[in-house]
Amino acid sequence: MTLPNGVKPLRDWQKERVYDAEDDGEKGRPFESLAAVQRYCTEVMAKDWLVRPHPLLDLAEIEVHDGRGSRRARTVGAFALHVPRWARHEQIVLHELAHLIMVRRRWSRFCASHGQEFVQVFLHLIGAQNGFGARQEMAARFRRRRVVWSGSDLQRWPADMADRWVEWCRREGIELPPEFMLAQRRVEVRLAAKEEALFAASLEATRGETW
Ligand SMILES: [Zn+2]
Repeated sequence: MTLPNGVKPLRDWQKERVYDAEDDGEKGRPFESLAAVQRYCTEVMAKDWLVRPHPLLDLAEIEVHDGRGSRRARTVGAFALHVPRWARHEQIVLHELAHLIMVRRRWSRFCASHGQEFVQVFLHLIGAQNGFGARQEMAARFRRRRVVWSGSDLQRWPADMADRWVEWCRREGIELPPEFMLAQRRVEVRLAAKEEALFAASLEATRGETW
Protein backbone atom coordinates (compact mmCIF):
# COMPACT_ATOMS: atom_id res chain seq x y z
CA MET A 1 0.00 0.00 0.00
CA THR A 2 1.20 3.48 -0.79
CA LEU A 3 -0.62 6.54 0.38
CA PRO A 4 -1.96 8.70 -2.42
CA ASN A 5 0.12 11.78 -3.13
CA GLY A 6 -2.99 13.88 -3.02
CA VAL A 7 -3.67 13.15 0.67
CA LYS A 8 -4.05 16.53 2.32
CA PRO A 9 -2.63 16.98 5.81
CA LEU A 10 -5.04 17.43 8.71
CA ARG A 11 -6.11 21.01 9.23
CA ASP A 12 -4.13 22.64 12.06
CA TRP A 13 -7.32 22.99 14.08
CA GLN A 14 -6.02 24.31 17.42
CA LYS A 15 -2.92 26.27 16.44
CA GLU A 16 -4.20 29.64 17.68
CA ARG A 17 -5.35 28.17 20.99
CA VAL A 18 -1.91 26.60 21.55
CA TYR A 19 -0.14 29.90 20.76
CA ASP A 20 -2.54 31.85 23.01
CA ALA A 21 -2.05 29.43 25.92
CA GLU A 22 1.73 29.68 25.63
CA ASP A 23 1.57 33.48 25.41
CA ASP A 24 -0.53 33.58 28.61
CA GLY A 25 2.51 32.96 30.80
CA GLU A 26 6.29 33.01 31.06
CA LYS A 27 8.44 31.90 28.12
CA GLY A 28 10.86 30.02 30.38
CA ARG A 29 14.50 30.75 31.14
CA PRO A 30 16.36 32.74 28.48
CA PHE A 31 19.42 31.48 26.60
CA GLU A 32 22.35 33.87 26.36
CA SER A 33 23.39 32.79 22.87
CA LEU A 34 22.55 30.69 19.84
CA ALA A 35 25.31 28.29 20.86
CA ALA A 36 23.55 27.80 24.21
CA VAL A 37 20.31 26.95 22.35
CA GLN A 38 22.29 24.47 20.24
CA ARG A 39 23.82 22.80 23.31
CA TYR A 40 20.42 22.60 25.01
CA CYS A 41 18.78 20.97 21.94
CA THR A 42 21.53 18.38 21.65
CA GLU A 43 21.21 17.58 25.36
CA VAL A 44 17.41 17.21 25.25
CA MET A 45 17.40 15.08 22.12
CA ALA A 46 20.21 12.84 23.38
CA LYS A 47 18.30 11.80 26.46
CA ASP A 48 14.75 11.76 25.26
CA TRP A 49 13.01 8.41 24.81
CA LEU A 50 10.72 9.95 22.22
CA VAL A 51 13.54 10.10 19.71
CA ARG A 52 15.03 6.69 20.35
CA PRO A 53 12.92 4.56 18.02
CA HIS A 54 14.87 6.13 15.17
CA PRO A 55 18.55 5.49 15.92
CA LEU A 56 19.81 6.92 12.62
CA LEU A 57 17.97 10.19 12.96
CA ASP A 58 18.94 10.19 16.59
CA LEU A 59 22.60 10.57 15.64
CA ALA A 60 22.04 13.56 13.42
CA GLU A 61 22.96 16.91 14.87
CA ILE A 62 20.29 19.59 14.99
CA GLU A 63 21.19 22.77 13.16
CA VAL A 64 20.12 25.85 15.07
CA HIS A 65 19.88 28.96 12.87
CA ASP A 66 19.54 32.53 14.06
CA GLY A 67 16.04 32.94 12.61
CA ARG A 68 16.88 36.23 10.97
CA GLY A 69 13.88 37.57 9.07
CA SER A 70 11.33 35.25 10.66
CA ARG A 71 8.70 36.48 13.04
CA ARG A 72 8.23 33.18 14.83
CA ALA A 73 10.59 30.40 15.77
CA ARG A 74 10.13 27.51 13.39
CA THR A 75 11.24 23.98 12.61
CA VAL A 76 12.35 23.06 9.12
CA GLY A 77 12.28 19.35 8.31
CA ALA A 78 13.79 16.89 10.75
CA PHE A 79 17.06 18.73 11.40
CA ALA A 80 16.82 22.50 11.58
CA LEU A 81 15.40 25.03 14.02
CA HIS A 82 15.24 28.75 13.34
CA VAL A 83 15.20 30.70 16.56
CA PRO A 84 15.08 34.52 16.37
CA ARG A 85 16.67 36.44 19.24
CA TRP A 86 13.39 37.18 21.12
CA ALA A 87 12.44 33.49 20.98
CA ARG A 88 15.56 32.16 22.70
CA HIS A 89 13.63 30.91 25.74
CA GLU A 90 13.35 27.37 27.02
CA GLN A 91 9.61 26.96 26.47
CA ILE A 92 9.76 28.17 22.87
CA VAL A 93 12.73 25.93 22.10
CA LEU A 94 10.87 22.94 23.60
CA HIS A 95 7.84 23.82 21.45
CA GLU A 96 10.08 23.66 18.36
CA LEU A 97 11.76 20.44 19.52
CA ALA A 98 8.28 18.91 19.88
CA HIS A 99 7.71 19.70 16.18
CA LEU A 100 11.06 18.18 15.31
CA ILE A 101 10.25 15.01 17.26
CA MET A 102 6.89 14.77 15.48
CA VAL A 103 8.74 14.92 12.15
CA ARG A 104 11.40 12.42 13.24
CA ARG A 105 8.80 9.96 14.49
CA ARG A 106 6.96 10.58 11.21
CA TRP A 107 3.75 11.26 13.14
CA SER A 108 3.72 14.67 11.43
CA ARG A 109 2.50 12.85 8.31
CA PHE A 110 -0.93 12.15 9.80
CA CYS A 111 -1.16 14.52 12.80
CA ALA A 112 -2.05 18.21 12.77
CA SER A 113 0.95 20.49 13.39
CA HIS A 114 -0.40 21.57 16.79
CA GLY A 115 -2.80 18.66 17.32
CA GLN A 116 -3.22 16.26 20.20
CA GLU A 117 0.00 14.30 19.68
CA PHE A 118 2.01 17.50 19.35
CA VAL A 119 0.68 18.78 22.70
CA GLN A 120 1.38 15.40 24.34
CA VAL A 121 4.99 15.51 23.15
CA PHE A 122 5.40 19.15 24.19
CA LEU A 123 3.98 18.51 27.69
CA HIS A 124 6.22 15.47 27.98
CA LEU A 125 9.28 17.61 27.18
CA ILE A 126 8.25 20.29 29.69
CA GLY A 127 7.86 17.60 32.37
CA ALA A 128 11.13 15.87 31.49
CA GLN A 129 13.12 19.13 31.51
CA ASN A 130 11.40 21.22 34.19
CA GLY A 131 9.56 18.74 36.38
CA PHE A 132 5.98 17.74 37.05
CA GLY A 133 4.95 21.11 38.51
CA ALA A 134 5.97 22.94 35.33
CA ARG A 135 4.09 20.40 33.26
CA GLN A 136 0.97 20.90 35.37
CA GLU A 137 1.25 24.67 35.04
CA MET A 138 1.43 24.44 31.25
CA ALA A 139 -1.41 21.89 31.17
CA ALA A 140 -3.56 24.34 33.18
CA ARG A 141 -2.78 27.09 30.64
CA PHE A 142 -3.82 24.74 27.83
CA ARG A 143 -7.01 23.77 29.66
CA ARG A 144 -8.00 27.42 30.09
CA ARG A 145 -7.68 27.92 26.33
CA ARG A 146 -9.54 24.68 25.58
CA VAL A 147 -6.52 23.03 24.00
CA VAL A 148 -7.12 19.28 23.55
CA TRP A 149 -4.44 16.64 24.04
CA SER A 150 -6.19 13.47 25.19
CA GLY A 151 -6.91 11.24 22.22
CA SER A 152 -5.20 10.92 18.87
CA ASP A 153 -5.23 12.94 15.67
CA LEU A 154 -5.39 9.60 13.85
CA GLN A 155 -9.00 9.36 15.01
CA ARG A 156 -9.77 12.57 13.12
CA TRP A 157 -9.36 10.82 9.77
CA PRO A 158 -12.24 9.00 8.09
CA ALA A 159 -12.10 5.35 9.23
CA ASP A 160 -10.74 4.01 5.90
CA MET A 161 -7.92 6.58 5.87
CA ALA A 162 -7.07 5.87 9.52
CA ASP A 163 -6.79 2.18 8.58
CA ARG A 164 -4.43 3.04 5.74
CA TRP A 165 -2.23 5.14 8.03
CA VAL A 166 -2.10 2.30 10.57
CA GLU A 167 -1.09 -0.09 7.82
CA TRP A 168 1.54 2.40 6.58
CA CYS A 169 2.99 2.76 10.11
CA ARG A 170 3.18 -1.02 10.55
CA ARG A 171 4.90 -1.46 7.19
CA GLU A 172 7.39 1.35 7.81
CA GLY A 173 8.11 0.18 11.37
CA ILE A 174 6.68 3.37 12.85
CA GLU A 175 5.36 3.17 16.37
CA LEU A 176 1.68 4.12 16.52
CA PRO A 177 0.75 7.02 18.83
CA PRO A 178 0.04 5.62 22.33
CA GLU A 179 -3.29 7.44 22.72
CA PHE A 180 -4.47 5.87 19.46
CA MET A 181 -3.46 2.41 20.70
CA LEU A 182 -5.34 3.05 23.95
CA ALA A 183 -8.48 4.09 22.08
CA GLN A 184 -8.20 0.97 19.90
CA ARG A 185 -7.85 -1.21 22.95
CA ARG A 186 -10.93 0.39 24.51
CA VAL A 187 -12.92 -0.38 21.36
CA GLU A 188 -11.61 -3.96 21.34
CA VAL A 189 -12.50 -4.44 25.01
CA ARG A 190 -15.96 -3.02 24.37
CA LEU A 191 -16.47 -5.31 21.38
CA ALA A 192 -15.22 -8.32 23.32
CA ALA A 193 -17.62 -7.52 26.17
CA LYS A 194 -20.46 -7.17 23.70
CA GLU A 195 -19.60 -10.48 22.06
CA GLU A 196 -19.43 -12.19 25.43
CA ALA A 197 -22.83 -10.77 26.36
CA LEU A 198 -24.28 -12.00 23.05
CA PHE A 199 -22.78 -15.44 23.63
CA ALA A 200 -24.17 -15.58 27.17
CA ALA A 201 -27.57 -14.51 25.88
CA SER A 202 -27.50 -17.19 23.17
CA LEU A 203 -26.65 -19.81 25.81
CA GLU A 204 -29.45 -18.48 27.98
CA ALA A 205 -31.85 -18.81 25.03
CA THR A 206 -31.06 -22.54 24.75
CA ARG A 207 -31.98 -23.19 28.37
CA GLY A 208 -35.40 -24.63 27.75
CA GLU A 209 -34.53 -26.37 24.52
CA THR A 210 -34.46 -30.12 24.26
CA TRP A 211 -33.05 -32.15 21.40
ZN1 LIG B 1 4.45 25.42 16.48
